[in-house]
Amino acid sequence: PVPLLQVDDLAIEFATPDGVVRAVDGLSYSVSAGRTLAIVGESGSGKSVSSLAVMGLLQQPPARIVRGSIRFGGTELLSLGQKAHRAVCGENIAMVFQDALAALNPVHTVGWQLTEALRARHGMSRRDATARAVELLDLVKVPNAKQRVKEYPHQFSGGMRQRVMIAMALSMDPEVLIADEPTTALDVTVQAQIMRLLSEIQAERQMGLILITHDMGVVANVADDVTVMYAGRAVEQASVFDIYAAPAHPYTRALLGSIPRLDQKGGGLAVIPGRPPDPTQVPAGCAFHPRCAFAEDVCRADPPPPTVSLPFDRTSACHFAEEVMNHDEH
Ligand code: SF4
Ligand code: MG
Repeated sequence: PVPLLQVDDLAIEFATPDGVVRAVDGLSYSVSAGRTLAIVGESGSGKSVSSLAVMGLLQQPPARIVRGSIRFGGTELLSLGQKAHRAVCGENIAMVFQDALAALNPVHTVGWQLTEALRARHGMSRRDATARAVELLDLVKVPNAKQRVKEYPHQFSGGMRQRVMIAMALSMDPEVLIADEPTTALDVTVQAQIMRLLSEIQAERQMGLILITHDMGVVANVADDVTVMYAGRAVEQASVFDIYAAPAHPYTRALLGSIPRLDQKGGGLAVIPGRPPDPTQVPAGCAFHPRCAFAEDVCRADPPPPTVSLPFDRTSACHFAEEVMNHDEH
């Protein structure tokens, strides 16, 4: 399939008081209609920064896109000005954030916010827009939509607010939806409901969906493809099947080991030892080496090639990608 959205060799730097930091380095991915790409990593891995770049929402400066390409359809977004870039995204790519309460206006009813969006986007009459707002809330399964359009954001539960945000995003009829940690603020049962809703809507509308998350547990049921990020780089890219069957990067392996298991009594999370590197002090060689159970001398000395190609069209940025993939105590 022809990709709707294609990111190639993207690199983004930030000016900080401690010097210039490379937040994203050589990131490439694509998403096609009807497909879901999960971008997985801990906070600070560059996953949110790269999607802000896609949307034309990076603050420049302090951010600077130093290299790469972001194409929607045939259009190179990075050669448009930021205003035109945002306009293309406004027409085609919508985003849902983690914090629905902050994204909604507290002084207006949910219905008002939806109708304003619809009127601005589609030039609808107030009456048609109100009817459409109710339909959209129905679509995202907010019960009593007719009543609830008249309520304010604080009158909604966290899960219901996130449904409202999804309705707002859908009011734009996007071809691509980027959901950045859409369920992180919610409890586990509600998380599952929201993820189910997102993937139903995605399938129905054949949207391209980019799901940004730190949680491998939510990826398995919804994603087709997975990009794992660490310290600004894509360290592993594969189909969801291949990545769960045999992760080919030690970081992915560690993330999979940290899925909370409901059947584990008192176990809690198996966490990855150590923490992601301070972006001003990324370790030499492989950035993951201080936390890697597979690390050898070569890892401390030489950065691994950015992509080691593996069978089934997958890649890993690890000196020992094949060994890790074939290592079977998973
Ligand atoms: Fe671990 Fe070395 Fe692979 Fe980096 S290159 S992930 S340190 S084995
Ligand atoms: Mg983030």
